[in-house]
Amino acid sequence: MCRKIIIVGAGPAGVSAAVQLTRLGHKPRLFDSTGHVGGLLVNARRIENYPGFAQGISGPEFIGHLSAILARWKIDVEQAHLQTITPDDEGFSLTFAQKTVKTSRVILATGTLPIELPELKPASIRIFYEVAPLLAAQPREVLIIGGGEASFDYALSLADRAIHVTLAFRGEFPRAQGVLVFEAMENPFITLSPLTVLSGISPSGVPHVLQNGVPIEFPGAALLVATGRRSTCSTFSLPCDGSPFTKHRGLFIAGDMRLGGLGQLGCAVGDGLYAAFLAARSNP
Ligand SMILES: Cc1cc2nc3c(=O)[nH]c(=O)nc-3n(C[C@H](O)[C@H](O)[C@H](O)COP(=O)(O)OP(=O)(O)OC[C@H]3O[C@@H](n4cnc5c(N)ncnc54)[C@H](O)[C@@H]3O)c2cc1C
Repeated sequence: MCRKIIIVGAGPAGVSAAVQLTRLGHKPRLFDSTGHVGGLLVNARRIENYPGFAQGISGPEFIGHLSAILARWKIDVEQAHLQTITPDDEGFSLTFAQKTVKTSRVILATGTLPIELPELKPASIRIFYEVAPLLAAQPREVLIIGGGEASFDYALSLADRAIHVTLAFRGEFPRAQGVLVFEAMENPFITLSPLTVLSGISPSGVPHVLQNGVPIEFPGAALLVATGRRSTCSTFSLPCDGSPFTKHRGLFIAGDMRLGGLGQLGCAVGDGLYAAFLAARSNP
């Protein structure tokens, strides 16, 4: 039995939990599928709402700070993908792709998964759900489906690189509000397309939409779908009820995973701290 507290997910929630537990005198183990720190922040163009960075900070720059604080506290990120977590008499059995770890206390901070569109199955072209891998593919034109904050952030990241973007959303107005929308409206590389739904992808791989009932094709455009995210709770057969507690003593949930969808960096960091206190105080 491993007496160390196990944290799964090295996004901001998992990192803040790991640092806090280390400060409290524990030696937690921190796992992430990617082996890297930062989670969804790798996609964030400019974080302007996190106290401490008055001028804003990009997601990748913020990840640099997360890496630095892990180094300061000598915490490594172990690359491993959690497949199942099984409660037993002694605590929990965590099955990763290549090993099983037993422990009595666990913090899950595995974030969210994209909500996929049923009309895209089976898809004949690669569909992107985050901007970081799309940027690596160096597209010339992108069709984004979804009108939330992430869509606008993605559009602005692409426009920064002179990539033409059509940002399509179902309603007359996007769900996103405020500065991101104003910036996008003024950006010459971004075209907003209200009252628009994705109607499918042609056999040759061309995405097409219905804009106010009128069909439009986007030959040569990469497709980025940002129609929301859902908690990874269901991956581990856990209910997502907004609580950091689960019915299993010693098992806690933090960050966007607890919130049930895409949240905010500050909430994830605070959640990680709180989960660390809960785990430290729970008697195995
Ligand atoms: C485009 C974009 C812009 C954003 N901008 C802002 C902003 O300006 N301000 C703000 O406050 N917030 C912003 N956010 C939100 C912020 O990034 C998230 O709220 C935050 O990253 C959530 O942190 P988390 O640790 O809960 O989850 P995540 O960051 O999602 O991290 C989860 C981690 O768990 C790992 N993982 C998942 N499944 C497994 C598994 N089975 N086994 C092992 N590891 C696993 C993943 O690899 C990932 O590293 C933005 C998000 C996006 C996408």
